[in-house]
Amino acid sequence: MVNLSLIANPQLHTWAQTAEAGLQTLLQAPDTTLGHLEEFLEAQARRLMLPILGAAAQALAGRQAFLCPICHRPLLGAAKNRRRTLDTVFGSFCLQRDYGWCPHCAEYCSPADQALGLQPQAAASPRVQEIAGLLSLRGPYAQAAKDAKRLTGLSFNPASLHRQANRQGQRAIQLRQRDIELAQTPQGLLQLSARSATSKRGPFTLIIEIDAWNIRERDDWGKTKKLRRQGQQPERWHWVFTATVFRLDQRGQTQGGRRVISERGYVVTRQGLEAFTQMLYVEALLRGLLQADQVLVIADGAIWIWNLAGDRFKDAKQRVDLFHVKEHLYELAKTLYGEGTAQAQQWLKPLLRFLESRKEGALDVLHQLQDLRQQLQGLTTSQQEKLDQEIGYFTTHHKRMDYKQAKANGEPVGSGPVESTARQYQTRFKCTGQFWTLQGDEPLLALATLYRNERWHLLYPHAAPTPSGSQNAQNQIPKNARLALAGKPRQR
Ligand SMILES: [Zn+2]
Repeated sequence: MVNLSLIANPQLHTWAQTAEAGLQTLLQAPDTTLGHLEEFLEAQARRLMLPILGAAAQALAGRQAFLCPICHRPLLGAAKNRRRTLDTVFGSFCLQRDYGWCPHCAEYCSPADQALGLQPQAAASPRVQEIAGLLSLRGPYAQAAKDAKRLTGLSFNPASLHRQANRQGQRAIQLRQRDIELAQTPQGLLQLSARSATSKRGPFTLIIEIDAWNIRERDDWGKTKKLRRQGQQPERWHWVFTATVFRLDQRGQTQGGRRVISERGYVVTRQGLEAFTQMLYVEALLRGLLQADQVLVIADGAIWIWNLAGDRFKDAKQRVDLFHVKEHLYELAKTLYGEGTAQAQQWLKPLLRFLESRKEGALDVLHQLQDLRQQLQGLTTSQQEKLDQEIGYFTTHHKRMDYKQAKANGEPVGSGPVESTARQYQTRFKCTGQFWTLQGDEPLLALATLYRNERWHLLYPHAAPTPSGSQNAQNQIPKNARLALAGKPRQR
């Protein structure tokens, strides 16, 4: 049992007096609302908690063995009681802890810093790190700094928030990289697979949906005119590869008929196709790739996606998003018969029906297009090109258009989930006037994805979910314990 004298009586007395005086003033003011009272007492609670947190943190630091946090060997050359200022949700305080040298790791380190979850060169406590990270995922840094002040009383400036979020994102990238390296060895593959949360036994289908969108970066910033003079156009838009992975039995419907997916994994990166492929493979393993009876890849017609699927998910069934296929037919109808004409409608109707109601409906559509090529007289060159293009499209993809069977199996026919994933990221990463850099966007994309994948606790152990039903340890206060902070008995 750690002996904590949480707060000295005189200190408590002073605190109570200040709080009471402030409350009196507020109560006498004519325009005081409950909100004023809440905000005032929040600030007072922080003042009260700061010395308590300081004492508890000092106790935690003091109980650490003087061993290297990495190799657990004894540390040498103790530098005692080194001070370090920490910024916490209650304010700043100074922590004292010992430093030592690990000859094995050739590193100078503090076991207390490691145990407390502190980062090198940064004053932020784990809760402050978490709040900075989370708010940075929601909106531009200037906005996040304002929100932090309003919601928590913490003062960040946008630049420090940016640095903080970047640091958290770098840690998220390291965690991701560790899993990618695991996937390189057979033992590692098994480890990743064992971590997959396949609580439900029995056969299941794993669904992988893939898409890409683009982000604007500040490449060659300030060199635009020079580049243009040299006849080059600066490339500022870059692909962000995106995927979502879920099990068919994790897809359900709300009472209002809206599709929901109870558990899903996300993969989002700006680091290129090769890196994306590795990340997607890891995420699929974590979501039960090796346990799945069937794997289904759904996407639009982009050829890189099907190359990736054939390369990494060889036995997977492939399906082109139905909505994209219909769009191809709408576009063709428009080119051949004019936009919105009765003739276009009449031509389209049976083709759309074939797609969804016939066993090899897409093949029937293809044959119709080929017949049309023979029959239609007097096509313009651009109409012919469009028709040939669509014949090519259906020739390439008709085997990926098994919509009748898909519906019979209760499988999705569209890539809506990955498209909505992309849209959610875009609300943060594609704001008006926003320019990113690869150094800035990738860490934040990694942090956002770690959060969505419900692995937040890997960065912030205090955020680990507690098993449902069992009470959180910190809530287990014995029934007869009395918290007599104000020294007065509670009124009944
Ligand atoms: Zn060591």
